Amino acid sequence: MKPFPFEYRIAETTEEAVTLLADEGSEAKIIAGGQSLGPMLNYHLVRPDYLIDINRATELNYIVEEGGFLRIGATATEVDIENSALVRQHVPLLVTATTHIGFPSIRHRGTIGGSVAHNDPAAEYPATLLALDAMFDVVSLRGRRTLSATDLFADRFLETTADVDEMIVGVAIPISTPTMRPGFAEFQERAGDFATAGVSTVLTMNEAGNQIVSAAIAAFGGLYPARLRAAEDALAGAEPSVETFSEAAAAVGAEFAVGSDVHGSARYRRRLIEALAKRALAEAAALQPTG
Ligand SMILES: Cc1cc2nc3c(=O)[nH]c(=O)nc-3n(C[C@H](O)[C@H](O)[C@H](O)COP(=O)(O)OP(=O)(O)OC[C@H]3O[C@@H](n4cnc5c(N)ncnc54)[C@H](O)[C@@H]3O)c2cc1C
Repeated sequence: MKPFPFEYRIAETTEEAVTLLADEGSEAKIIAGGQSLGPMLNYHLVRPDYLIDINRATELNYIVEEGGFLRIGATATEVDIENSALVRQHVPLLVTATTHIGFPSIRHRGTIGGSVAHNDPAAEYPATLLALDAMFDVVSLRGRRTLSATDLFADRFLETTADVDEMIVGVAIPISTPTMRPGFAEFQERAGDFATAGVSTVLTMNEAGNQIVSAAIAAFGGLYPARLRAAEDALAGAEPSVETFSEAAAAVGAEFAVGSDVHGSARYRRRLIEALAKRALAEAAALQPTG
């Protein structure tokens, strides 16, 4: 199918983009990599009158380290992130998550801002950015505000809490310290497919590395990306062990909101998430996974 007709506008700057958004409101959509919006236009799932292309707004394309944060501009592509030495050094979990997104041709066009704004429940970035306690800058003609990942995603499905006249301009991720140990596990039916489910985690250990100070666990592939607080609370202060992680993984499976679809029943997904949580936690603590 072909998209319905639309007017194509190029924004050379953030200001031009938010001015167009303010003028056209819900009739307009930003286009970044077009890897999600393109199919949605073709399948008539969205019918904007205006597309605002932000790819020429060069101030939105950066990856820098600043003030204890890794800052990534909205139009940084998934390949930019995958290949960035700064990201690899300071937030390695984001590189791992990125390499699981689709395949290279998708990652060459897809942007972090687009993936965040699209908030697909099966996408790697929203859950991983939840686990990393990322902060998001959003801008409109009314001004700029900063939202936590929890406030931006807020149990939403294929949307965020950003208003229609707001644009996501950047992500700030606290730089990982040596005591923060990342873990990641996902299941795809075929290489390159969206994940059926996955888990991103960061365990903050004590200096000796034998006790968990705090845990961040987020899952994707359910109704929406989510932090799993009951499991996180259960792990705080615990010693890493196969038994501890099995109990925490069961709590993840119990808490994560899942549904049934063509890829599997809710019961299957819950069991899958539990197994993936166990794997991600074991990876973070460098234990041998058992299932
Ligand atoms: C075959 C295929 C496989 C894929 N597999 C995966 C996968 O395994 N995992 C995964 O996570 N993703 C996957 N994707 C999606 C891919 O990662 C997309 O690139 C990403 O979800 C959207 O980024 P984009 O830059 O292409 O956004 P676009 O498609 O341009 O936009 C997506 C949405 O975000 C809005 N938007 C874009 N930028 C902004 C902004 N800065 N501020 C506010 N709103 C904005 C748009 O208006 C639109 O509603 C796949 C896509 C395809 C086609």
